[in-house]
Amino acid sequence: MEMKEYIEEAEKALLHTYNRFQIVLEKGEGVHLYDINGKEYLDFCAGIAVFALGYGNKAYNDALKDQIDKLLHTSNYYYNIPAIEAAKKIKEVSGMDRVFFTNSGAEAIEGAIKTARKYAYLKDGKTDHEIIAMEHSFHGRTMGALSVTGNPHYREAFEPMIGNIKFAKLNDIESVKSQITDKTCAILFETVQGEGGIFPATESFMREVRDLCDAHDILMILDEIQCGMGRTGEMFAWQRYGIKPDVMTSAKALGCGVPVGAFMMTEKVGAHSLVAGDHGTTYGGNPFACAAICKVMELFESEHVLDNVRRVGAYLYEQLEGLLSEYDIFTEHRGVGLMQGLVCKEPVGPIINKALEEGLILINAGANIIRFVPPLVITEQDVDDMITILKRCL
Ligand SMILES: *Cc1c(COP(=O)(O)O)cnc(C)c1O
Repeated sequence: MEMKEYIEEAEKALLHTYNRFQIVLEKGEGVHLYDINGKEYLDFCAGIAVFALGYGNKAYNDALKDQIDKLLHTSNYYYNIPAIEAAKKIKEVSGMDRVFFTNSGAEAIEGAIKTARKYAYLKDGKTDHEIIAMEHSFHGRTMGALSVTGNPHYREAFEPMIGNIKFAKLNDIESVKSQITDKTCAILFETVQGEGGIFPATESFMREVRDLCDAHDILMILDEIQCGMGRTGEMFAWQRYGIKPDVMTSAKALGCGVPVGAFMMTEKVGAHSLVAGDHGTTYGGNPFACAAICKVMELFESEHVLDNVRRVGAYLYEQLEGLLSEYDIFTEHRGVGLMQGLVCKEPVGPIINKALEEGLILINAGANIIRFVPPLVITEQDVDDMITILKRCL
C-alpha cells in the first residue's frame, strides 16, 4: 500500500483523538527515523521524550529479546528477578526507598495521588484532603491525573473531576501558600513543566515548597515523567536543587520505548500509606518491562548519557540563543539540558510541518513553542544538522 492509503485506513479505524502528521513511520536507527518510503528524518522529538538511547540500540534490543524468550509476564503476586533489579537500581539513582511499577505516566500520577490521600487519611481519619497542583501543568489523561492537570480545556467536558484539587502558580510561592489549609495533603508539580511550555521550577520555589511541606507535614510530589531520566543532565531534574521530594513519578524514558512507569517514595511515606490491597496493576512492572528498565539504567552508565546531555545540551542552548537573536519571530528561549523550548510570536504548527517535509521531526509545547526533546545520545553534529534544517524552514 502507498503511504496515502495507509493513512486513509488509519483514519477509518482509529478514534480521532490526535491530529496526526501525515507520515507512516517504519523503522529507526540512532537518532533517525524512516518512513515507509525510506525518507529519513532527524528526530528531535524522541517519541515525546521517550527514546533516550536512540533507535536500534543493539544491547537494549538484545536484552528485550532475551527476556521475551525467558519470561514475559507473571503476576505481581510472585517475585521476578528483573523487577527486583529494576527497583534496586531505581532506588540507587533516585535516592527514594520504595518503588511501585505502573504501565504509564498517568498511572504513576494516580498512584502518587492515592499515596498522598492515604498518608493523610492515616493521620486524621478524614476523607476530605486537598491537593495543590499548578496551572499549565500536565500529568496525564486518566481521571485522577486529569484532575491535577492545570489546563481547563482538557478537563471541561469530563467534569466532575476528583474533588478537592486546587491550582497555584509555578514559581509563585505566595499563590501556593494562599491555597494551603489544614486539609492539604500534597503539593504536586513537574520539576520542569513540559507540555505547559518548558518552565523549570526556580531554586527558591523548590526550597520554599520543601519548607512548607516540612512545616505542615504535606507531601511534596514531583512529576519527573518528562524531565526525569537524564533529560536535564541529572538523572532526575530535582537533583539539581539540593532538596528531595517525598514522592516522585517517572515514565517516558524509563523504559525507552517499552511502556512502563513508576512512582517512588521515601521510607517514611512508604511505611505510612499504601498497604496490601490498596493498590495494584496486572501488567505493572512485569519481567519484560523491568528488563527494559534494567538495561536502560545500565546503558545510561556505560554510554555516559548524563555527560552527553550536559555537553550537547549546553551546545543546543547556545545554538538556540543564536536563533533567538537572529530571528524576530522568536521571543524567548527556556529550558535545561535536552529539554528546551523556543517561544514564537505565532503558532508554530506551520514551522513544524515544514520541518517534517525537510526531514526534521519537531514537536510543539502549547501552540507557540517549539519543544526540543531529542534522544539523549545526540551529538553536536546532530544539533548543527537540526539548526540548518530549521533555518531553511523559517
Ligand atoms: C507524558 C506525561 C505524563 C503522562 O504520561 P503518559 O505515559 O502519557 O500517561 C504525565 N506527566 C508528565 C509531566 C508528562 O510529560
